[in-house]
Formats: sequence, structure tokens, C-alpha cells
Amino acid sequence: MKITSHKRCIIVGAGVAGIAAALECIAQGIQPILIEAKPYIGGRARSFVDKSTNETIDNGQHLMMGCYTYFLQMLERLGTTHLLKPQPAMKVPFYNADGTKDVLDASRMKGKNGVALGIWNLKRVSTASKLRALLLAAKIQFNLASYNGMSAAEFLQYHKQPQEIITRLWEPVILATLNSTPENASASLLVEVLKRAMFGSGDASSLLLPQAGLSVLFEPLENIIHQHGGSIMLSTEIKEVLMFDGNAIGVVTQDDREVRGDDVILTIPPRALQRLNIQQIVDGKAQSTLQEYVFSPIISVYLWFDKNFMDDDFAAMLETTTQWVFNKRKMIQTTKECLQQYPGHVSLTVSAANPIVHESAEHIAHHCTEELRKVFPAAHDATLLQYKVIKEKQATFLATPQLESHRLQVRTTVPNVYLAGDWTNTGLPATLEGAAQSGVKAVTEIIFA
Ligand SMILES: Cc1cc2nc3c(=O)[nH]c(=O)nc-3n(C[C@H](O)[C@H](O)[C@H](O)COP(=O)(O)OP(=O)(O)OC[C@H]3O[C@@H](n4cnc5c(N)ncnc54)[C@H](O)[C@@H]3O)c2cc1C
Repeated sequence: MKITSHKRCIIVGAGVAGIAAALECIAQGIQPILIEAKPYIGGRARSFVDKSTNETIDNGQHLMMGCYTYFLQMLERLGTTHLLKPQPAMKVPFYNADGTKDVLDASRMKGKNGVALGIWNLKRVSTASKLRALLLAAKIQFNLASYNGMSAAEFLQYHKQPQEIITRLWEPVILATLNSTPENASASLLVEVLKRAMFGSGDASSLLLPQAGLSVLFEPLENIIHQHGGSIMLSTEIKEVLMFDGNAIGVVTQDDREVRGDDVILTIPPRALQRLNIQQIVDGKAQSTLQEYVFSPIISVYLWFDKNFMDDDFAAMLETTTQWVFNKRKMIQTTKECLQQYPGHVSLTVSAANPIVHESAEHIAHHCTEELRKVFPAAHDATLLQYKVIKEKQATFLATPQLESHRLQVRTTVPNVYLAGDWTNTGLPATLEGAAQSGVKAVTEIIFA
């Protein structure tokens, strides 16, 4: 249904939730006024030019999946879907610390059966462990797996998962999708991820790799907003929601300018929200929930070498500090100069990075390089020329079982103020998909308010 109105909706925050909300406003005939504190859009999903190498890098490697309905719809609206390279089916090489390799290859059958067969064909896992994993997958499919209030670790123990399948399969999935150790992660979110992504239908489990810097994916937004009579204000921090008679009538910027609109969607993270006049927007219970949100870091390590040493596009690494390695030279186009100067370029991801977050960048870069040399023998002959370590200390909220039961809802106590963002009650972990879904849902609430 398309409703055309003359409404103006103020969207605070131009991360993925804000971008998705702005595009949904346009689709529904509402004029978006998108306001962002930083001089760029994208929030926690952005790219920039690294000064020492002149190469475009992301604030952290992002992976998408075939089940990302809302995020992919957002890229469709931006006209940038072609910048993602989809795998025909999920195929993930797993490297052990000693260099031996296993592959989770779901390409032999369509959908969840392919993933199940891929697990069955893992070579370095015993038959007994694979049977346990597949039994759990089947229980999840038929909603027979109990998980209420459990952590992912408790859930795996309750369902008798042997340690080797936890180490070689479940833990990497939990780290990658929930940015958490199994002990801290909510089992209900893990179950949702497994249902939607790994054991979803059709292409749900296929991975999609961006072939351009993340910011390039969102570049057309400004033009689209202007073409539809909306506006975008960068470098503009909001300090207050302007209230009149129990309703919002706009927002106030840090430099005391007023921006007026009919509805307000706040897509900013919990800490930023607490700096607004939050007592007027959510009730006491929601205010104390906001204080419960804690965050989990992700460290991204970009390494440039004098030669390429990897054949795969990307790979998971087991029992090492490094969890994922992405072969940027196979994924992203770059300049001739960068290719000549740095023929080898990889990015590494360390999720739930608390144990190393206080180490120096130099230490992390060299430690991870040593790990690569153990896993990829060809890396022994490659000289490290440059490195960049990015520590996103508040990469995502920590999705604990305690928090999961009462994440904040879209609606607030003010009839025309809505919340969105990956941390709201999306039923998903903090992901691009959760963020995009929350933005769209906030606009849907406006339409049916
Ligand atoms: C290193 C890293 C790797 C990741 N990897 C993946 C991945 O592989 N796959 C995946 O799906 N997800 C991944 N994620 C998670 C994903 O990036 C986030 O879930 C998503 O980007 C969150 O979007 P958001 O719009 O909810 O929040 P944000 O991106 O935080 O956007 C909020 C925006 O609000 C702005 N703002 C704050 N306060 C104000 C104010 N007062 N006034 C105006 N503006 C304000 C901020 O500047 C920001 O731009 C990763 C995240 C990180 C950090």
C-alpha cells in the first residue's frame, strides 16, 4: 500500500537504520529530514581512505547474507545491489592454527539441506559430533529446541553438543553473528540466526561480499532524498526533542537551531539517546533498560604485503586470535598504484575482542601476521609493508539473555516519537539487517499510527 501525504519526518542518525527509514519514508510519500552528527552517513558501516596507503578501507569488514531482506531492499532502492558479490551457495573454508583446512560447502543441494550436507561432509569433525549438530539443527527447524532464558553456552550444553563441534562450528557462528562469546550470547538470538540464516530456505545462507567500500553502497542516498523533496543535514548533532502539549514538534541542534517536523524517529545508539531529554520520551522502566546496554568491541586489522599469499576470497581461522581473513585483492577493485605497491592486502576480524582491546596496534598487527604465517605457508615469503588496526570499542551491544527479554520497542511514550537502531527490539542480533528492519518498521508505525 502506498499512502501519499505531506508529512515531514525527522530522522535523527544516518546509520543503516536512518538510511533505511529515509528510503521507506520516500516509498510511503513522506518527506524525510535526515540529520546526522558526523560529516558522513553510514554510522558504524562506513569506509574511508587510509592515509598511509591511499587505499579505501572500511571501519571493519562487513559480511551480508542472503536472508538480509530489509538491508537488500535498502540497497535495491539505492541502486547499489550490484556492488555485492553473492556466493552461489554458502562455502566457508576453515583453517586450523596448524594450516590444515576443512570446508563447509553447502553447494551440493539447495537451501538448508545443502548446509546440513555441508556439515555432514566436514572432515575434521567426528561422525558422532556431526550427528549431534544435525539433530540440534532439526530440532530448531521444528521448534523443538528449548532455549528460554539460556545463554548460547548453556543451550549448546543442554542439547549435548560435543566440544569439537562447538569449537569448529557453533562458536565461530556465534562470534561472527552475535559478536559475543557463547557464555554471554542469548540462545534465543542464536536460534533465530540459525533458523533464518544457516537453515533458512533458498539462498538465505549464501554470503554476500561487498566489492566496494561500504560508504559507496550508500552514496546515491543524498540525491534520492533531494529528488523527493526531503533534506539531509550532516555535521548536525541533535541535543533535544522539541515538545509541545505532549507531542514532538521537532528537534533542537547543538547550536540551538530548531528543525520542525510531524514525526521524529531516533535511530541513535543508547548512550547518545541518554544525552537527549529522554525522561520526556520513554518511561522509567525503559530509562533503566537503557543503562543495562553494554557493548562489545570488534578489532579489524588491515595488512599490506609485497605479495599475495591467499587463494580463497576469505576464510575462517580456528583457535587463533584472528577469526576471519578476507583477501581484499580478490574482493575489491583498487587503483593501479595500490596494486603495484602492495600486491597483497588482507583484512582480519577479531570479534568479542575484549581480551586484546588494550594491546597496542603494533602488537596486534604483528601477532596476527605471525598467525597468518602459520596458517598460510606462502605468507612466510611475504613482507609486511603497512598495517592499520581499527578498534571499534562499541561495535555492537552485547546481546545477553537478560537484555534480550526487554530491548526497547519502536513506540515511545510520545505518540509521534519512534525508536530505531540495531539495538532496539528487532528479534535479531546487532546487524545491518536488524538496523535496516528497525528503520522500516518505525516508518510503518507512523503510517498506521
Ligand atoms: C567493525 C564492525 C563490523 C561489523 N560487521 C558486521 C557484519 O559483518 N554484518 C552485519 O550485518 N553487521 C555488522 N556490524 C554491525 C553493523 O555495522 C551495525 O549493526 C549497523 O551499522 C548499525 O546501524 P545503526 O543505524 O543501528 O546505528 P549506527 O550506525 O550507530 O548509526 C547511528 C548514527 O547516529 C548518529 N548520531 C548519534 N547521536 C546523534 C545525535 N545526537 N544527533 C545526530 N546524529 C547522531 C551517529 O553518528 C551514527 O551515524 C559490524 C559493526 C562493526 C562496528
